[in-house]
Amino acid sequence: MGKPIDKIISSLEKQYMGYKLPPVVRGNPSKFKLLIRTILSARNTDDNAVAAAKLLFSKYKTPAEIARAPIRELEKLVKRGVFYKVKARNIKKLSKILVDKYNGKVPDSIEELVKLPGVGRKTANVVLSHGFKKAEGIAVDTHVFRVVNRIGIVSERTPLKTEQALLKVVPKKYWLNFNKLFVLHGRNICKARNPQCEICPIRRWCDYYKKEN
Ligand code: SF4
Repeated sequence: MGKPIDKIISSLEKQYMGYKLPPVVRGNPSKFKLLIRTILSARNTDDNAVAAAKLLFSKYKTPAEIARAPIRELEKLVKRGVFYKVKARNIKKLSKILVDKYNGKVPDSIEELVKLPGVGRKTANVVLSHGFKKAEGIAVDTHVFRVVNRIGIVSERTPLKTEQALLKVVPKKYWLNFNKLFVLHGRNICKARNPQCEICPIRRWCDYYKKEN
């Protein structure tokens, strides 16, 4: 049975009104900084990603500077978290592409973003929605993936399939804020371990809750 998306979104909007945005998108970062933070947040905590990005930007400010920076130096700066060597290499390569192809700017379409090294649909969607306020898709990270599948809005096994399924059932007017609301819900109530269903404002529509009670 389809879920009442309007009611679920409206309950989450009420619940998280006035909450701080998740750390990676907090503080109105530039589009380039947002892109780098999001790349660094893959399989990493948000706090680590933001701290690593801060260290990187304390030394190199622009795509041109990062493109010219020695790789060992970049590795040292982004060392917090896993896969830092791959991430450093991708950041250097994509900075060069931004300089050569986009005049140092971050492109604003999903097709162009996903061609950059280390940028998948999740990262592209985060940059588009938070940086450009454009909704061409829905960023499905670990929180969104877990929460929407628990509720039963969709029933999929991978983030990519989850996004494809969400785009069919979630009206486009909700795409822009969807990631933010479900990340906040995943971080605060519908946690990976021990979801706090007893205080959850959307439990009446949740398959997981019905199964457990
Ligand atoms: S009822 Fe429980 S499992 Fe369902 S969305 Fe709320 S916290 Fe998550």
